[in-house]
Amino acid sequence: MKLTQLPDNPYLLLTPGPLSTSKSVKAAMLRDWCTWDNEYNDLVQDIRKKLVRLSGNNHDDYTAVLMQGSGSFSVESVVGSAVPADGKLVVLTNGAYGNRLAQMAQVLKVNTIVIDFGEVDEAQPHKLRELLEQDTDVTHVAVVHCETTTGMLNPIAEVGKVAKEYGKVFIVDAMSSFGGVAMDVADLQIDFLISSANKCIQGVPGFGFILAKTEELKKCKGQARSLSLDLYDQWETMEKHNGKWRYTSPTHVVRAFYQALLELEEEGGVEKRQVRYRENQRTLVEGMEALGFRTLLRRELQSPIITSFYFPDSPQFTFAAFYERLKQEGYVIYPGKISVADTFRIGNIGEVYPHDMKHLVQAIERNMFW
Ligand SMILES: *Cc1c(COP(=O)(O)O)cnc(C)c1O
Repeated sequence: MKLTQLPDNPYLLLTPGPLSTSKSVKAAMLRDWCTWDNEYNDLVQDIRKKLVRLSGNNHDDYTAVLMQGSGSFSVESVVGSAVPADGKLVVLTNGAYGNRLAQMAQVLKVNTIVIDFGEVDEAQPHKLRELLEQDTDVTHVAVVHCETTTGMLNPIAEVGKVAKEYGKVFIVDAMSSFGGVAMDVADLQIDFLISSANKCIQGVPGFGFILAKTEELKKCKGQARSLSLDLYDQWETMEKHNGKWRYTSPTHVVRAFYQALLELEEEGGVEKRQVRYRENQRTLVEGMEALGFRTLLRRELQSPIITSFYFPDSPQFTFAAFYERLKQEGYVIYPGKISVADTFRIGNIGEVYPHDMKHLVQAIERNMFW
């Protein structure tokens, strides 16, 4: 089937994953693929190598593990495998994904301390320092990079510096930023970074991945609190059996992801993609501000990934009506997810370009029914 014969999507997903993907990524799923033969396993190995290469310049110390499930499953595999029974985890949170990580730790009965920064302030490294000064039992520190709840970009370099000054293992949920925000995992001193197929790499949902410092990953042996989500075991099987997954892998999704990685290379890599996302974000915010909308976050805290806007100040406005109208126009936006203010969100990532943002703003202008 030719790509031009594939039907166009009825709308653009302006959501932070699943997001709009290219036709060629979708086309990679239009046949059935083996899950166990050499060709497939070689492809998995190639994906793992490409992911490690995306992690920065100095990647000899790192390895990649792919894990079935949505992104949360990969986060849970790290939390449940990396922190030993007598370990203690600190979670810095300022939104739903930081809270979810803390909740996972609590469900897994990991000794956990939460430092909560509310919903609109960034994670502050000095609070972590104060805690680490007092509590010497802490072994691991976790933080979300782009808190997708609001679009906030947390200062992971500074947080990592403090964590390492005190000799702690550093875990970063970079789910919605990896591949769209340039970062060097080694420079940032990250031991476990988690992301997934359906965010900035622009694949479809079905698995997540972990970039781990090999030395730290090896310490996870026999530590996991779950069989299916045993990070060490999954890695060991992939290493020893040339890319084999332990249980059924999402073959179609993996093929689509491989295609998405090729397209990231074609675009010019993460730096180029970041420029496009930033341009999307800037075009969106300038257009929205011209229509009278205000962003939730100050510009310095804003990621190029997703933007939160306050509801317009009018009793006639309802998100449900706004959402439906924009969907009719060909754009799917995202509800807000915080308690301190009424907001909605618009994603800037995926197969989406500045001209799409311009047309979106025009569609919003046509639909200001309040
Ligand atoms: C998307 C996302 C996750 C994972 O969510 P799933 O629904 O499990 O894929 C975790 N953390 C962040 C910051 C995210 O944006």
